[in-house]
Amino acid sequence: MSGAMSCNLSARLPLDRLALYIPSRTKRGRLIGRIVDAMKVILAQPRGFCAGVVRAIEIVERALEKYGPPVYVRHEIVHNKHVVENLKAKGARFVEDLSEVPADAVTIFSAHGVAKSVEEEAAARNLPVLNATCPLVTKVHNQGKRYVGQGRQLILIGHAGHPEVEGTMGQIPSPVILVQSEADVEALDLAADTPVAYVTQTTLSVDDTQGVIAALQRKFSNLVGPETRDICYATQNRQSAVRELSKQVDMILVVGAKNSSNSNRLREIGSEEGRPSYLIADGSELDPNWLVGMNTVGITAGASAPEVLVDDVIAALRRLGPVEVSVLPGRQEKIEFRLPPELAKAS
Ligand code: SF4
Repeated sequence: MSGAMSCNLSARLPLDRLALYIPSRTKRGRLIGRIVDAMKVILAQPRGFCAGVVRAIEIVERALEKYGPPVYVRHEIVHNKHVVENLKAKGARFVEDLSEVPADAVTIFSAHGVAKSVEEEAAARNLPVLNATCPLVTKVHNQGKRYVGQGRQLILIGHAGHPEVEGTMGQIPSPVILVQSEADVEALDLAADTPVAYVTQTTLSVDDTQGVIAALQRKFSNLVGPETRDICYATQNRQSAVRELSKQVDMILVVGAKNSSNSNRLREIGSEEGRPSYLIADGSELDPNWLVGMNTVGITAGASAPEVLVDDVIAALRRLGPVEVSVLPGRQEKIEFRLPPELAKAS
């Protein structure tokens, strides 16, 4: 870049904006160029992998090392195609139903958990099972069992069809009522003095559930539920971080899979905070039109999205022009979950 040219151009640009002159030549050798403001990219903290996802992936990797491929995983181990493809390349096979698992094959249950009937089917077939259900999901199962043991009608706050919800409902030895909204609570046909308890899907945060819980409190006189501190720390932290991020940026990119519940919630929160927000699997899904008029882009990632995909999105932004990356100060997470004993010994 010529110093004189740079100086003249800088004089015409706002002082608080870093600008670069990108020179290039036409086929005939004529010097052309464009002035590009460096786009500010701010990364949310924390973002990406949570302890439950790290543990689940490690279970598959260690099982492959210890038992050799193939190992069979019921459902996507976590909701991320990149993670699943990586594990497939190492010899993991993903199935939706245990009937697809051959006799004696090592079988892994995904981080979302499974219904009791699935555990029973695996036991009846003597399949060697490794359970990658997140310990926080198991904790919800146990809370639910305790409440029904006390004679309460259990209500699960969650999204219909999500594998975690199916697993939780299938773990409780009596009928569970699923509610997704305050309207669902209003529509419940139960007497006001029915002993009721509630538990929540882990990928809903305190903020997500408070309206529904308030509706339950209005409707039922004998209601119990978990302490708010029992809600998944990773969900809450990522949602708080994206709220903070939205105060600093013009738009938000959430890196995550379309079927990832917590990634979808991050995108919804960005929108609720008034920022255009997009959920993208990786840099290939970045649409340059989204960036028109945007000076500062915030990036976060769902709990099942690896950091390599955040890097991929930053690389895609860099292909469009210069980028300055910084990280928003936020909570440092130090939580780790133990591996199943048979794999911990293998280390
Ligand atoms: S989001 Fe929370 S509940 Fe889900 S796997 Fe991660 S730590 Fe476990």
